[in-house]
Amino acid sequence: METYSETGEFSRNLFYIDTFAHDLRRSIGIFVLRNGSECAIFDSGMPNSSGEILKSLKKFGIDLDSIRYIFLTHRHIDHAGSSAYLLEKLSNASVGMHPYSAKQLMEPSKIYQGGKELFRDFATPMNPLEIASIRTLQDGEEINIGKEIVKAIYTPGHTSDHISYYIPSRKALFCGDLIGLFNPKTMKLSPACMYPSFNYQSFQVSMEKIRAVDLEFLIFPHFGVVIGNDSSIIVEDSLATHQRLFKIAEKHKDNAKKEEILKEVKAEMDASATFPDSVRERAVEFMAKGFIEGLNPH
Ligand SMILES: [Zn+2]
Repeated sequence: METYSETGEFSRNLFYIDTFAHDLRRSIGIFVLRNGSECAIFDSGMPNSSGEILKSLKKFGIDLDSIRYIFLTHRHIDHAGSSAYLLEKLSNASVGMHPYSAKQLMEPSKIYQGGKELFRDFATPMNPLEIASIRTLQDGEEINIGKEIVKAIYTPGHTSDHISYYIPSRKALFCGDLIGLFNPKTMKLSPACMYPSFNYQSFQVSMEKIRAVDLEFLIFPHFGVVIGNDSSIIVEDSLATHQRLFKIAEKHKDNAKKEEILKEVKAEMDASATFPDSVRERAVEFMAKGFIEGLNPH
């Protein structure tokens, strides 16, 4: 499987940044697109990651004034965390997002609290975004970065406000946490059905949208880039894993206690490399619970 999982230019004018979140390699990454004199960043990592991101942009020779957008996939602290801090240095940038993310990020205390529940001390406070810096995006909306088109595709499932970003001319998709957590070491994918926001029905509908997209680069925040035909294989793999979990949950629907279903679903989860040791078990717990709760329509 061809993958890319470090800081650098993985294809001409497409960059990947390892933010070294929680002092770990290959935990949280962001994606950067350049076209001519304009650039966009996709996601912003944890609140304390702006320094590492700015350092990498400098290394790529990217002028901070050329950055027009930070596009956020969803509201979670490990994706939206640094956006307000980055904006202090990016004088020409707006932050593109779902309208619901906007509501949350103007007053981010709830997101910070949610982040604390999972990441504990690794979660540091977030600064609020000002309304003037926010650009809300509609489903299917296209934004120009230089001569490149970035298409916002609503893909709820992991959260209700989730957006995936597609660059048609490059066949590149930044998929956020929709498809799952990709571990570039094992090449395995783990579901990202985080409690309490995951919804299985929405996930299935969103995955059909992704299946219809032509892929050359599948870019994960957790973690790295899958290149070529393997991108589509990973999408199918994710669907199959979720279906397997669904069958386990169905099997026990009528008789079993919730704890038993939880145990079985948990056994199916790869204790992914995404999380620091002290957080990993809790993360798996959250995901197993998220999957069971997410079977009911929200
Ligand atoms: Zn998330």
